[in-house]
Amino acid sequence: MKVVRHIPDLHISGYVGLVPTMGALHDGHRALFRAARAECETVVASLFVNPAQFDQQSDLAAYPRDEERDAATAEAEGVDVLFVPSAEEMYPRGFGTWIGVADTGAEGDARPGHFRGVATICVKLFNIVRPQRAYFGQKDAQQAAVLRRVVRDLNLPLQIRVLPTVRDPDGLALSSRNVRLSADERARALALPRALLAAAREADPIAAARAQLNGLEPEYVEVVDLGDARLLAAAVRIGTTRLIDNVLLEGEIS
Ligand code: AMP
Repeated sequence: MKVVRHIPDLHISGYVGLVPTMGALHDGHRALFRAARAECETVVASLFVNPAQFDQQSDLAAYPRDEERDAATAEAEGVDVLFVPSAEEMYPRGFGTWIGVADTGAEGDARPGHFRGVATICVKLFNIVRPQRAYFGQKDAQQAAVLRRVVRDLNLPLQIRVLPTVRDPDGLALSSRNVRLSADERARALALPRALLAAAREADPIAAARAQLNGLEPEYVEVVDLGDARLLAAAVRIGTTRLIDNVLLEGEIS
């Protein structure tokens, strides 16, 4: 696996799959690498904690980072090229062009500027790497929906693939932020996937999820439309950690 830090050093050919990540890699990221490995000739993963998509500086500062471990994980999953740019490489002095995203509700309302940062960094990565396919997780369902719309609206020549959420055996969705939960917080966090799963079978899933969150205060509970699927999504704050999750209401993830 080649580790590349500078854009001009990237020499990529073949049918290319791109997996954008912010590192602190876990089995959710591994599932994306495996799908890309199975479907593409060349697999490129990016490791970049994108300052532009953080609405809270404290969240950015506390984001877990371990490049050495992440590189070993990516290599073990057959990634060909690991792109690890600096913030200056992606946002050099004078940078001033952004992808504006129409109002998305839910995550977009809860985190002003978040999807503008996500869309901008992803379009930059698409232009730099030129993948035929880019891989994203259902866990960040609205992110996937926003990127599908960016690709459609701007006629970008790639396909956005979405893969199902990978969970711990007890149901908690894997997230780089889970390491910040204490044992007690982690136990309380289980109410999120449980409430969503139970509520998805009800006539009014939003009200049902709110009623079953077991004392967790939701930032939102909303239905997200992914085009080929509708999802019941929620965000909660447990201590200082913010967690999001969603379950399928109808359709399929692709
Ligand atoms: P992140 O490093 O958190 O920005 O995530 C990089 C990619 O991995 C995004 O497309 C996420 O949706 C995806 N991802 C994160 N957690 C999971 C998970 N538990 N299952 C599947 N995909 C995930």
